[in-house]
Amino acid sequence: FAALLEQDPAIGEILVSELDRQRTGIQLIASENQTSPAVLTALGSTLSNKYAEGYPGARYYGGCAEVDKAENLAIERAKELFGADHANVQPHSGASANQAVYGAFTKPGDTILAMSLDHGGHLTHGFKVSFSGKWFNAVHYGVNKDTEDIDYDQVEALAKEHRPKIILAGGSAIPRLIDFERFRAIADEVGAIFWVDAAHFIGLVAGQAIPSPVPHADVVSFTTHKVLRGPRGGAIVCKAEHASKIDRAVFPMMQGGPLMHAVAAKAVNFAECATQEYRDYAARVIANAAALADRLGTHGIRPITGGTDTHLSLHDLQGVGVTGIDAEKRCDAAGIVLNKNAIPFDPEKPNVASGIRVGSPSVTTQGMGTEQMEQIGDLIARAVTETDGTPEHPVAREIRDSIGELLTAFPAYPAP
Ligand code: PLP
Repeated sequence: FAALLEQDPAIGEILVSELDRQRTGIQLIASENQTSPAVLTALGSTLSNKYAEGYPGARYYGGCAEVDKAENLAIERAKELFGADHANVQPHSGASANQAVYGAFTKPGDTILAMSLDHGGHLTHGFKVSFSGKWFNAVHYGVNKDTEDIDYDQVEALAKEHRPKIILAGGSAIPRLIDFERFRAIADEVGAIFWVDAAHFIGLVAGQAIPSPVPHADVVSFTTHKVLRGPRGGAIVCKAEHASKIDRAVFPMMQGGPLMHAVAAKAVNFAECATQEYRDYAARVIANAAALADRLGTHGIRPITGGTDTHLSLHDLQGVGVTGIDAEKRCDAAGIVLNKNAIPFDPEKPNVASGIRVGSPSVTTQGMGTEQMEQIGDLIARAVTETDGTPEHPVAREIRDSIGELLTAFPAYPAP
């Protein structure tokens, strides 16, 4: 940071304080992680200077020999990692990847069938304030009230009734495995494209810890910065028959020049994910998420669906009489970073919410295990039920002291 601190202390100091923030709290945002120094190096490289509209070997600019090599490596590594026919590594983000999938298979006004946002879907799955809700006729399925898991019978009934162009599986707050075979069968029954937005769980697929959607789906979009632990960005893998449609939809339909520094960082990340070390990490992410979910449950902070098969769990706070927004604030003041989240059939407005979402990707990267998850579960329960949202509260102070000890043993970005 030294050169930046000297040239532009205002920004330099923000970078230093953000690193400090990431090091001094327990990071439980399910969609975040701590990417490797190698990925950060690629991100901060001169590849950022290069214009490279087009694809390797077919660019609209000269001087692309080096970035072509980087993109080819990213593509080949993604195909190998996911056993995919084709990969596009240019989407700037998860939302950009999703925009391209819509661009490839639909035109404005078409019907799509996806999970509703308030049951765990994503804004880009047809929510009314998103382009996807404005440009398409979005029909939504949800979870079954008893199991709190995806209501596959409802998916089938809605698919038959509305004959959507696309059936979309995946979301941001789904703790359980998705039955891709069932979705595929429903899509085939109505002649729909089956698309999986695997943004949240693709890292667990890369680490071979959960079943892959790739053999079943026509197209799989994802972000590269969640469990996967790569740079902030997006990617798409698909069947060979859809390859040129997807490529044309990413560029030139939705995007201009690719972020070649991010493409190189994706290549670095895909190679990291192909190691036994990463596979062990993915398995530990799931074990840790399950341990945390169970422990919170013992404190009356009920896990939706009774637990988790993935990296995240969603919890109902109604049993302890605290709203999501208050729980988030109280945890924040105690040094625990998580987010409020609507739960299925939530009586509260989304900006208040009756739930919280917690995830294990970051703390697992720091080397924590199930014992630490139990400890964190106890600390969250204390923060939620015994503090008032101010950092001065004596219990908040006690919690921060315990966290300090935990982080000394399991630091984020340890000094070399
Ligand atoms: N799809 C899903 C399921 C997500 O959870 C997210 C982000 O949280 C996205 C898409 C969008 O990704 P981004 O924030 O990179 O645009």
